[in-house]
Amino acid sequence: MIVNLRTKLSISYVLVAIISVLLIMVLANIFLDKHFRDYVKHNQEQKNREIITAISTQYQSNDKWNMEAIEAVGVNALENGLIIKVKDISGKVLWDATDHNNGMCQRIIEQMAHNVSSRYPYIKGDYTEVPYPIKYEYNQVGVVEIGSYGPYYLSNHDLLFINSLNKLMIGVGVFSLFFALVIGSIMARRLSLPIAKVTEASQAIANGYYSERIASESSTSEINRLTSSINHLAESLEKQELLRKRLTADVAHELRTPIATLQSHMEAMIDGIWKPDTERLKSCHEEIVRIGRMVGGLEKLSRYESENLVLEKVSFDVTDLVKALINNFESNFLAKGIKINFSGSTQIILADRDKISQVVVNLLSNALKYTLEGGEVKVSVKGTEDTTKIIVSVNGTGIPEEDIPNIFERFYRADKSRNRLTGGAGIGLTISKAIIVAHGGTIAVNSSRETGSEFVVTLPK
Ligand code: ADP
Repeated sequence: MIVNLRTKLSISYVLVAIISVLLIMVLANIFLDKHFRDYVKHNQEQKNREIITAISTQYQSNDKWNMEAIEAVGVNALENGLIIKVKDISGKVLWDATDHNNGMCQRIIEQMAHNVSSRYPYIKGDYTEVPYPIKYEYNQVGVVEIGSYGPYYLSNHDLLFINSLNKLMIGVGVFSLFFALVIGSIMARRLSLPIAKVTEASQAIANGYYSERIASESSTSEINRLTSSINHLAESLEKQELLRKRLTADVAHELRTPIATLQSHMEAMIDGIWKPDTERLKSCHEEIVRIGRMVGGLEKLSRYESENLVLEKVSFDVTDLVKALINNFESNFLAKGIKINFSGSTQIILADRDKISQVVVNLLSNALKYTLEGGEVKVSVKGTEDTTKIIVSVNGTGIPEEDIPNIFERFYRADKSRNRLTGGAGIGLTISKAIIVAHGGTIAVNSSRETGSEFVVTLPK
């Protein structure tokens, strides 16, 4: 049977509460009852001792007894629910409670029997008279028989006390149960509410509402982890969705201009407005080449991003490679009045040389494109214990902070209004990232408007 979490938790809390309260009540009752019986026994012995002492002091030597005082003790004992009989050493009855007030004695015995059976219905009680010797100067001078209903003599006070204690315990038990129920249902609600919210939010996300987020903070760390994972999932889905939409728009946008140019040129030539001379055909050819380059780039990217990108790894000095590539670019940098510096010593890595070249070429051509005339580009190769870093810093205008997380995405260009003729299609860094990731490395950018941008490629050794 499938029930919701809140009901399940509530039922568990209630069961645990009932079991705990019952267990506590049963154990407390057993413990209390044992101590109560001990107390009753002890109390009875104490009373008996008091009677014996009181009767002993009434012996006045030579078989003389203070009869009035004995009667007073006997009556007092009777009033306290004890039936006594006093005999001298010869067995002659000096005072007998049943002779004094037989009716009262009967009532006391009945009351005792009633008290014991009401408390311990399973105990078969009996009225017994226990004889205790009365001594005078170490000699026995008589006997006092104290009658009580056994095995426990429960006075009305004792019974009242134990019964009110039991009622109090039941009251405490019922209150604890009620309290546990209330706390249990609050806890169940507190635990199930965030889960219900997470479920609701993930359903909304599954239905395509990627902007949905779970706002509430819980005091349970697991629930906080769950909500933050769902929020993170929604964020990446939202980002992917945005990029997917932008990718479609960007591809269309990138293709529209060269196709429109081609179309208008062709139409003009077909209509005889333009002569199909070499100059015009060359311009059409350039547009076609541009489209071809873009499609080629996309193809390359999909190949690099697919999981079966094959790397032909060889051991080589990456410093040597970077130096050679800088040499190839040197004239272009000089033509733009840009200073280019290199620092670094031999760094041997195991990697796909051609693909690492592509990454460096891309970083250098970006440095060339995005550094203003008269600027400076610094390239360095550094080695740590287990990584090699290629760093390209440019003191240009920097990349706006909001663009930094996106520049490695396809077709993303920080300056969207930039004339496309000066730049590429916005897939150079995406390809570079795919290559570096395939090598188990990372590519990151630090940028600020004041200091420019710094691209850091980290490769494992
Ligand atoms: P593109 O072909 O447009 O250069 P990339 O993928 O190489 O494509 O770069 C993506 C975007 O990152 C660029 O359009 C540019 O906005 C930004 N960018 C890349 N390199 C630099 C750099 N060295 N300085 C400033 N911005 C840069």
